Amino acid sequence: MKSFVSPYNFVEGVNIKEDPKNIIVYDTTLRDGEQTPGVCFSPDDKLEIALKIDELGLPQMEAGFPVVSEGERRAIRNIMKASLTTEVLALTRTIKSDIDTALSCDVDGIITFIGTSDLHLNYKLKISREKALSAAVDAVEYAKSHGIFVAFTAEDCTRADLDFVLQLFKQTTEAGADRIHIADTTGSIRPMGMKHLVTQIKNKINNTIGIHCHDDFGLAVANSLAAFEAGARAISTTVNGIGERAGNASLEEVVMNLRLLYGIEMPFKYEVLYELSRLVEKYTLMPVPNNKAIVGDNVFAHESGIHVSAVRQEPLTYEPYMPEFVGQKRRFILGKHCGMSCIEAKLEELNLKVPPNEKETLIIKVKEMAETGAKVGDREFKNMVQEILSKG
Ligand code: MN
Repeated sequence: MKSFVSPYNFVEGVNIKEDPKNIIVYDTTLRDGEQTPGVCFSPDDKLEIALKIDELGLPQMEAGFPVVSEGERRAIRNIMKASLTTEVLALTRTIKSDIDTALSCDVDGIITFIGTSDLHLNYKLKISREKALSAAVDAVEYAKSHGIFVAFTAEDCTRADLDFVLQLFKQTTEAGADRIHIADTTGSIRPMGMKHLVTQIKNKINNTIGIHCHDDFGLAVANSLAAFEAGARAISTTVNGIGERAGNASLEEVVMNLRLLYGIEMPFKYEVLYELSRLVEKYTLMPVPNNKAIVGDNVFAHESGIHVSAVRQEPLTYEPYMPEFVGQKRRFILGKHCGMSCIEAKLEELNLKVPPNEKETLIIKVKEMAETGAKVGDREFKNMVQEILSKG
């Protein structure tokens, strides 16, 4: 793929080399994403999104929280019937009946979680650390006895006591957990803090570390990548970064960072990212901002004369990679900052011709219209061209 990112990413000491097989991106659009206030997917919506995630080629997805409702269980069972290549996980508390409910949906595995910070233990769960520890170990042992994949999540891990977290991860690992997850439940850590935390855990616990970040400070993706740099090898994401409060680490941003800024070629069909984003936009009724990284409509749109002129000669002058890679399209936008190059690009795109000496008139007309605050769309541009031609 044609792309060019900063070579400084790949100097010794900065570059992270990893076999793509060792990296698990597990998407939780259908679980944490659905916990976005006001969002509710129908079983059909969930299936359609799951099929698209499967087409993208992620190794795992979290499909829901089975104890929530009968509809949720029906949705998960429907997804299971579709026999996806992507492994399907469900969320459970560290409660036996939650795990039984998940098992009744035939899922490939579970993510079982318990609050680990004193805030969660004292105010939410009202239990001691000892009790939380035994609940976590029992849940992992019970789920593992059914032969499924089990990840254990330390909820609010980034605000919990490190020794306690280490104890939890050590004992759940010994109980058979296939992976341990750090949840930055309130998005309250910064990248260097995350690196420190992951390093501490990695040094003492022999298990794969997963990471689930929230975007309360706009750092979900940065923190996920910091965790990856420190040795975490599973990253939780959601399409468009939806999720509780400010949302989660965005799937499209995480996978494109790994692909281009880390140079790791994951076996994904990256070109469905835009389509997947629009699908989730449709079912959440949450419009994707035009300036959203990777999937926003402005990401490959150019208006300023200098940019348009350069991009027409070599797109990489003002784009880090080609839009088709993520299923996007390059667009030239008419507006106040337009120059000759923009007008020529538009004429070419719409297959229109005007005498060379009239192109300057078009620039003036476009700028005048844009400065009234009106949008200069293709239709308006065609009218301008028509006007010029009819005069001639
Ligand atoms: Mn979450």
